[in-house]
Amino acid sequence: MEKRQELYAGKAKSVFRTDDPDKMVLMFRDDTSAFDGKRIEQLDRKGMVNNKFNAFIMTKLQEAGIPTHFEALLSDNESLVKNLDMMPVECVVRNVAAGSLCRRLGVEEGITLTPPTFELFLKNDALGDPMINESHVESFGWAKADDLAKAKALTYKVNDVLKAIFAEGGMILVDYKLEFGLYKGEVLLGDEFSPDGCRLWDAQTKEKLDKDRFRQGLGGVIEAYEDVGRRIGIDFDA
Ligand code: 5GP
Repeated sequence: MEKRQELYAGKAKSVFRTDDPDKMVLMFRDDTSAFDGKRIEQLDRKGMVNNKFNAFIMTKLQEAGIPTHFEALLSDNESLVKNLDMMPVECVVRNVAAGSLCRRLGVEEGITLTPPTFELFLKNDALGDPMINESHVESFGWAKADDLAKAKALTYKVNDVLKAIFAEGGMILVDYKLEFGLYKGEVLLGDEFSPDGCRLWDAQTKEKLDKDRFRQGLGGVIEAYEDVGRRIGIDFDA
């Protein structure tokens, strides 16, 4: 597999073409951004930690029957993935109220949401990733209704699999964001799953172990990500 020119540089990852048009290389950088890219800092080891974290989670999801773009870990900070035609939407499931839900609806952080909520946001930093609904997705052609329905069903299925994995490690999966794309007509989970795109709290102390540590200036960001990883069985030295 030959890595070719950079196709796209996101806020935390770069995407490279390969000699196979169906495959791409994701390079996880040490950049950490918040507030729609308005704040960016370099955090040592972050690229390696998120790459290995994502590989572990994607593999667990695949084993549970959730189709993903993940193919193989290539190096400390690179993974091989399928080349998806991405839907420009973020699918968010929340088990516990936190973040923008509390700001928007004035609800208290920490309330259990039964059943978990499902929300959609448009991927658009300039607009601040506004909340959208299913009819917007269809009317603006961001995805076909049945593909969005598949993405939604998969987002909920991910919840069942990951809630159990994090619970075993003594953590609560508060919420998370997923992105999907099409590969030869099939809806696959794309992008990444790491503590950058979810909220995880220690089940006993409710300590935040995710990117909120960066957003809220709490420090110990990568140490928390590594702690989460070790608790679910990831060996970052492997
Ligand atoms: P909220 O809407 O509360 O800001 O975010 C809900 C969940 O989705 C959180 O776990 C948050 O980390 C994730 N999330 C929402 N938007 C983004 C985004 O643009 N990038 C990343 N990495 N995660 C996001």
